[in-house]
This record gives sequence, C-alpha cells and structure tokens, in this order.
Amino acid sequence: METEPGSSLPSTQFPVRSTAIVYHPRRQVDVAPRETSIYMRQLIVVTLLLSLVAQVQPLAAQVESALDPATAGDAGGVEITYIANEGFLLVGEDRGVLVDALFDVGVRGYPRVPEEIRRGLEGSSGRFRNVRLILASHYHADHFAAGPVARALENNTAAILISTEQAADRVRQVIPEMSTMAARVIGLFPPQGKSQTVTVAGIRVEVFNLHHGRDRPEIHNLGFLLEIAGVKILHIGDTEAAAEVFAPYGLAGETIDVALLPYWYLLHPKWQGVVRDHIRPKQIVAMHLPVAEAAGSYFEPAGNLPGLLAAIDAAFPGTLAPTRPLETMSFRGEGE
Ligand SMILES: [Zn+2]
Repeated sequence: METEPGSSLPSTQFPVRSTAIVYHPRRQVDVAPRETSIYMRQLIVVTLLLSLVAQVQPLAAQVESALDPATAGDAGGVEITYIANEGFLLVGEDRGVLVDALFDVGVRGYPRVPEEIRRGLEGSSGRFRNVRLILASHYHADHFAAGPVARALENNTAAILISTEQAADRVRQVIPEMSTMAARVIGLFPPQGKSQTVTVAGIRVEVFNLHHGRDRPEIHNLGFLLEIAGVKILHIGDTEAAAEVFAPYGLAGETIDVALLPYWYLLHPKWQGVVRDHIRPKQIVAMHLPVAEAAGSYFEPAGNLPGLLAAIDAAFPGTLAPTRPLETMSFRGEGE
C-alpha cells in the first residue's frame, strides 16, 4: 500500500472548473439531459472537440506484465488493478477510474476490500490519488457503500460519482445538506436497450442498463464501456442479462479489448453465448469469484476455487482471474 501524506487534496476547490460532464446521445437516448448552464454548454463544446481529437482507433490489448504498477501507466496503455470482488482501479494517461471498489461490509462468501486499501481509496492517496471518476454498477453491499463513496468524494474534489439513481440517492443522504459535493453525485439509468455516454475529465464512458436478474427487476444495474488510452474496457456489474438484452447495444462491433465479467457468464451455456456472440472481447477478466473459504455451493459445479478457475479456463482459455488485492494487469494498444 503506497501512501503519500499531503498529496491527497487536489488544489482546485471547484470541481466543475476542472471536470466537464458531457451528455451526448451516441445511439438513441431517451433520457433527458440534465439542465446545463451556459458555462457548462461551453465546456461541453470544448470537451466534445477534445474528445473527437482524442479518438483513437480500437487497439488490441495484450497482457503485458503484472509487475511494475508505477511505470506501465506512464508508458501508455492501461493498468487494471484488482481491489476486491468486482472492484477495480483503471489507470491510463495519469487518470484513474474506480469501478465497484468503494464498499465496506461486503456480502458473505465474496471478497471485501482490505481495511488498509479502503483507507487509501477513501483518502485518495498513493495509487488512488489521480482518480477522476468513481463508478458503481449498483448499490449492493459487495459493490458500493455510501459512506466510503462520500468520503472519497470529500477527499478528492476532482472526482465524480456515476451510478444508478438508487445508489446516488444513498450518497446524497450521507453528505451535508449544503455540500457542493452533491453536484458530483450523478445518478443515471437509461431505458433498457439504450445507452448514455458521459465524458468526465476526458474519460469517455458509455453507460448501459443491464438488469440485475429476472427475479430482482427492482435493482437497477449498470454496465460501463470505457475507453482509456485507446483501450476499450467493459464492466457489466452483476447482471444475468441474456442475449436479447445485450444485442441492442451492439457491443460485438465495438472491438472490446478487456471485458470484466462475473464468473457465471463464463460457466453457464446461456451466458457463455452472450460472451461469444454479443461481447466478443479480446481479453476476459473474471470477477465476483467467491473467497476460497466460501461454502462448497458457491463453487458449483466445480467444488472449490481452484476447480472453478480451471472450469473457467477450460471454457475461455487465457481468462485472467485476479484474486489477490492490488494484483495489477497492464494492457497496451497495438502499435504503441
Ligand atoms: Zn454482487
């Protein structure tokens, strides 16, 4: 755990000056954009231009090394650091994105964020100092907790939260009433089959509505497609969405470099088809793996964690399955 005392507070006190949020429909989007001031509209135009300039052709990812986390981001490409469960830090071009990494109590049978790492996340210190975007797929305790998210936003005024309205509401409830932090708490939920694209600090993220499961339609769950340093990364949260839910998003045509997928998508035929036909990533990273000590039923049909990992590799050879906190994978665009 790196810590750098004194480096946790960015200089700006007015995050909107350094961080532009851009809403623009990429496909058909029925969600009404938030009201924007003239100032924000100017920012939008500027950021749109910048994002056009920054468009990079889809590039093939390759696993580079799991070694030196201090250098891979500097040399181009993206580092993906496993935190816990479905929680990851993505770093490229000196900017970080957290996905499903800020939670505390977790859910029995699945990994929790180690205390020391959570302090770093909340304090925006060490490797977490350049986080600009905090994403949470849904509000469940193994993906999100309002307290840790609020503390991270408080300690890092350059960071913005994007999650479901259900999760955003939980954060609003724990921040002081007059706090300017509320402006950095954004809830989104596009209609199923539509997506919404947001750009934060030059990081473009397309947000998808991917339901949590047939039995629990009341729980909103988001998928995220990010493009960082020319590498396209997909995180789908906890979903049991079938092929017909994925099809309208056209992800197979996106040339996704890295897909972070809950392990059940890799083991069961109906979801394996989604991966092969509707996501088609160059590299799969398995997530939401049970802890090694979990009850045997968590590992069906394999029996234990090594058996589960072997079954995943048999179905999708070359899948990465990080289980150690701060395990880091580096990906680089072809030709860089
Ligand atoms: Zn979960």
